[in-house]
Amino acid sequence: MERQQKNTSPQSVVGYIHNLSDLKQGTKRPYFEAEIQQKHKIQKLVVFKPDLYTQFKTVNDDRTPVCLHDVVLQPSRLTEGTHEVLYTYKSTIASLNHLDYSYNPTLSMTEKDLSIAEILKVKTSYRRVNVKAKILQNNGQHHNFIHDGTFLLNTTYTIADTTASINFTVWNDTDITIGSWYLISNASIRLFNGETTISTTKDTELTPVSCQDETHPLQHTTLETLSADIVGANIDILYLCPQKHKIPNMSLSSSKVQCEKCNTYFKSACITHYTHGTITIKTATNIRTLHIENNLIRSVVDIPDNANTDNIIDALLALPPVHVTVHKNNLTRITTILNPPTLTDMPKITFSPASPAQASSSH
Ligand SMILES: [Zn+2]
Repeated sequence: MERQQKNTSPQSVVGYIHNLSDLKQGTKRPYFEAEIQQKHKIQKLVVFKPDLYTQFKTVNDDRTPVCLHDVVLQPSRLTEGTHEVLYTYKSTIASLNHLDYSYNPTLSMTEKDLSIAEILKVKTSYRRVNVKAKILQNNGQHHNFIHDGTFLLNTTYTIADTTASINFTVWNDTDITIGSWYLISNASIRLFNGETTISTTKDTELTPVSCQDETHPLQHTTLETLSADIVGANIDILYLCPQKHKIPNMSLSSSKVQCEKCNTYFKSACITHYTHGTITIKTATNIRTLHIENNLIRSVVDIPDNANTDNIIDALLALPPVHVTVHKNNLTRITTILNPPTLTDMPKITFSPASPAQASSSH
């Protein structure tokens, strides 16, 4: 049966590789998937040679056209009337100098509108989708250095539509309003540790839309709001060149610094100071250490350009009590309790021993 369905005569396929998946564990051996943009169509590609992953990743990232020799075309189980390209142990790959058509960054065979309940059923990582959803909450910010050494921020949100909720990772410092509905186009489905999430890609667009629909209720609230004293802190500063490369040996006293990646000397004033670390808070019931990133640190303490980590830690430890919003161990909001208690509040407010900041406030 299987044999008859396959077109077993050797085939060659020419095109650009898109949407390369992670390495996946098959029943017999690892494999990975991608899509190949040919002149008039896009086909799903399944590669059964895990040792070629790096090579496929390079042509995927560099957008280099390729010719795949001796591949097998198999009828698709997902989309009737189409074929998948199977890259077997007999197949070979060759890079091409150019094709007579260009790489289409937004093109994708699988991009389509899905509800969140449908996305949760998709078992294909890196599939492109459009989804309309409401941003329910911010789950915290993180930073990474991507493969070429460039700094990149990401923020995770919980989003929901009428069918379900899901985690949504937004790369870069994108302006998003909690409580608003967006049409999210060209997002990518990710499967990690059995959890399905969606993530923005280079091609993702977020368009605000008006919608009054009731969202699917969250199973349980995942944000906590606490009042606490900051009792500990550990902060690091990353120095970034204008191209967002890390400068390892930043001298705060010199007027220029060298970025080895850019092979350029930059004015010290052009260098971004990105702070991050942890704070330890003491609530009425326990002590917790929370992850904190630059924007939130700067929302409560002023950081001059010549500040070192010691100065920032001192400033954090000198803060009055704070209100914090926490998702798991990520701080998502912090405000100082600055206002002196009003008379009606007086009986229930008990400040801990005055910190220097409190002593100087006007009560
Ligand atoms: Zn640089």
